[in-house]
Parts: sequence; structure tokens; C-alpha cells
Amino acid sequence: MRTEDAMTAEVVELLRTLIRNACVNDGTDASGHEIRSADTLEAYLSGVGLAMERYTAGPGRVNLVTRIDGRDRRAPTLLLLGHTDVVPADGRGWRHDPFAADVDDGVVWGRGAIDMLNLTATMAVACRRLAADGFRPAGTLIVAAVADEEASGAHGVAHLLDHHADAIRADYVITEAGGVPVPSREGPRLPVAVGGRGLAAPGRAGHRRSRRAAVRRGQCAGDGGRRRAAPRRLPVAGAHSRRVAAHRRSARSRPGDHRRPHRS
Ligand SMILES: [Zn+2]
Repeated sequence: MRTEDAMTAEVVELLRTLIRNACVNDGTDASGHEIRSADTLEAYLSGVGLAMERYTAGPGRVNLVTRIDGRDRRAPTLLLLGHTDVVPADGRGWRHDPFAADVDDGVVWGRGAIDMLNLTATMAVACRRLAADGFRPAGTLIVAAVADEEASGAHGVAHLLDHHADAIRADYVITEAGGVPVPSREGPRLPVAVGGRGLAAPGRAGHRRSRRAAVRRGQCAGDGGRRRAAPRRLPVAGAHSRRVAAHRRSARSRPGDHRRPHRS
């Protein structure tokens, strides 16, 4: 099997386990149970020399952090930030059990398959592979799987920033979202959100929260939590919005085309 195929298979299996763990966050302190996926990820990441740190913010609300130390202290650090919780799903309107993680026609179905257990699994597989290969980056690579992203963040990033900021202090952060194909006249486009946490857009969404917790709290892992910045609109976000608006206008002017980009 080619390396890419083997890694893809690993991501799929890990993703299916994370979905089945059903770390459903309904916004109450007693929900989430992210310890299940912290355990899964810790077991998966073991055996390749990675030190794991667990930070518990409440019963069952476990955050897992690991790192590959850089060889140059002056080089920037990179944080891969995934969350392990998902929003509730009762199965109504679903073609598949939201927590069965069925594979149907080459697609993994389940709550969190896109937001964002696919990425959390991918980050873990990449980290394990790099550690197993003895990769030594210039700047430290941190991989964090956090709880409570779908609600207040109090048991996740906020807890880490308030009590263990050094664990996730980083110069750059890669997290959700992006990568979901958006139809366009020229074919599917894959958006990449740059500085997405600097943009807050009120409104209804598939998400039960219309604003993301980190934005609402104005917290930035990217500067190690030292700064609690007010949300601001980045120039790149403005340019992106204008292009999306122009695309929507041209789509509306095409009769019979009611396709709209959808959210997970
Ligand atoms: Zn998410």
C-alpha cells in the first residue's frame, strides 16, 4: 500500500472511532465526555516517543496536548488545534446513524465527520507519522485535541489559556475550517480561511451557536493567550466576503440554479 493510502486508511479508522465516541456537547458542564476521545488519541499516539499531557477542566472534560520539540529555540512554533466534541444529533433527517460512522460509497457519515473530527484525526496521524520518522522541526510542533469548542470553550481552550497557557503557546495556529468544496462555475473550490478567528459573523447557522466560542471570548491561542483581542475584520476576510457576495449575485441571476454552499 502506498504511504498516502496507508495514512488515509489510518485517518479513516481514527475518525470513525472519534465519531463513535460521541463526545456530544450540549452546552452543559455534564456533557461532552471528551475523555473518551482523549483516551483514544493518547492510545493512538503512544509508542513513538511522544510525551502526552492531559489537562482536565472538569469531570470528563479532558484536553490532550503533545509536541515535537523544535531544534531552534528562535524558530516559530506551530499549533495544530483540533477539537473532540460535537454538537448534538438525534438522527432525524439523517440517512445514517449519526454515531455509527458508517462508510457508504467511500464517504464517512457521522456527527463531527466534517466539524472537525476529520481534521483532528488527520492532525494526530500526521503527528504520529512525523514522530515515528524521527522528524525534528526547526520550531516546535504542538498538537492539541481540546474539549468544549462547540459551547463556551470554558473546558477547552479557555481553560488551557487561563491555567496552562505554556502548553499551547504558539506563533501560528492551524485549525478548522476550510477544505469543504464550494461549487463554482469553474468547478469545486476549496476555501482556505486565513485569520478566521478574527472574523465574527452573527446569524443563523447549522451550528447551534452562531458565533464561535473563541471569537466571543476574544481569546487568541496564536499569541499564547497573552492578549484578549477584540474581534477584528482582516483585509483578507473583506476581500473574501466581496467575492462570495459577487458569486452569490451571479448564481441568483442564473435561473434554475438553486444550489447553495452548505455548512456542516
Ligand atoms: Zn468545529
